[in-house]
Amino acid sequence: MPPSQTPTPGSNPTPGSPGAPGSAPAPAPGSNAPKRSAAERITQLFQSRYGRPPTWIAAAPGRVNLIGEHTDYNDGFVLPMAIEQRTLMAGSLAEDGGRRIRVVSELSPEMASFELDVLSPPEGTPNWWEYPRGVAAGMIEKGAQARGLDLAVASDVPMGGGLSSSAALEVATATLLEAAWRHPLDAVEKALLCQRAEHRYARVPCGIMDQFISTMARPDHALLLDCRDLTTRQVPLRDPNITVLIANTNVRHELSGGEYAQRRAQCEQAARELGVSSLRDLDLNQVIRAKPGLDALIFKRAYHVVGEIQRTQRAAELLAAEDYEGFGRLMFDSHVTLRDDFQVSCDELDLMVELAEDRKGIGGVLGARMTGGGFGGCCVLLVRAQKAADIQRYLYTSYLERTRIEPEIFVTRAGAGAELPRAP
Ligand code: ADP
Ligand code: MG
Repeated sequence: MPPSQTPTPGSNPTPGSPGAPGSAPAPAPGSNAPKRSAAERITQLFQSRYGRPPTWIAAAPGRVNLIGEHTDYNDGFVLPMAIEQRTLMAGSLAEDGGRRIRVVSELSPEMASFELDVLSPPEGTPNWWEYPRGVAAGMIEKGAQARGLDLAVASDVPMGGGLSSSAALEVATATLLEAAWRHPLDAVEKALLCQRAEHRYARVPCGIMDQFISTMARPDHALLLDCRDLTTRQVPLRDPNITVLIANTNVRHELSGGEYAQRRAQCEQAARELGVSSLRDLDLNQVIRAKPGLDALIFKRAYHVVGEIQRTQRAAELLAAEDYEGFGRLMFDSHVTLRDDFQVSCDELDLMVELAEDRKGIGGVLGARMTGGGFGGCCVLLVRAQKAADIQRYLYTSYLERTRIEPEIFVTRAGAGAELPRAP
């Protein structure tokens, strides 16, 4: 049995571990196309670490946001879908009947171990196991009868690439604990519990989109989420001739200025100056009329957010009506305003979208945009399925040639939400 390691408050990420939240090493080129899927690796991992097969296996997907960027904290709409890549968590009750959880990840050589009676949030830099630990703490707060467990994690969701490996890990944990502790959660309650774990235990002030889609996704559907009242609508994306490409630029520009916090503050300022509680309460004409009285930068921020909220609602309608060309045009529009007005793009994301534009029309690209917070990470493309392989090759070769950086590009359909593929 490998030595167990108990996280202590203030402990730093262990060398060779997946690292602290938000400081994951960039995934190795090609690492998101493993020969054996996590579903095939997970049982072996559990068996090799604990010497017996797992009782339960839970799965939860990563996600990509099709449209609706920087709208979540403005009470707006987002339209994500689950990707087919998932995080799997295997578990069994602890053999000694003790009240502790042991957890291993295939990305980390050592085993973490924590007591179920000492579940206060960490004081120092959080380690990766704070995600499952925070979920366990949330379940216990909700009255779950906690029992000791052995857990193992394997994942095909690239870590730190903006596809929400963190929510996948939280939701996979919650799904496993629901079964192991016989404490089913309502879907909204489960998503909120996972978000709270990320806020309090990983200390990442994330929005609610990632946990919602990882919990509620349905195959062949995107999810329109109203971040104001948390209502959702499943929007079909089931045409076999249409598929989604994700192109990871494999760059992440670390900007010193706290850009995310700055954008949030600018949105709040815009709302204040326009006399509303959030930018959700405005339409684009009101913003345009107010332009003369606004600082130029604040105007641009509001212009993006208000336009993007409208665009996301419209995009959901177009998707439901199977108007993929119209949907694709809105994706390109979204990229333009993220680049020019919200100013969260970067050269590599812009290049990827320009390359996608080269393949518009008969080339098979319907739309493309940066996705996620910005300054690196991924682009999402809506493409004709028959052309997907061509487009993938073109983007890979041209991007590599122009930047000397190897991108990762993969095709995914809208996948399933969290589930328990194996239960006793
Ligand atoms: P993203 O959610 O975009 O992938 P985050 O920085 O929010 O990026 O979350 C990544 C962090 O989540 C990692 O640094 C690690 O702490 C944790 N994590 C995610 N997946 C795993 C995994 N399979 N094994 C261990 N830790 C993981
Ligand atoms: Mg995350």
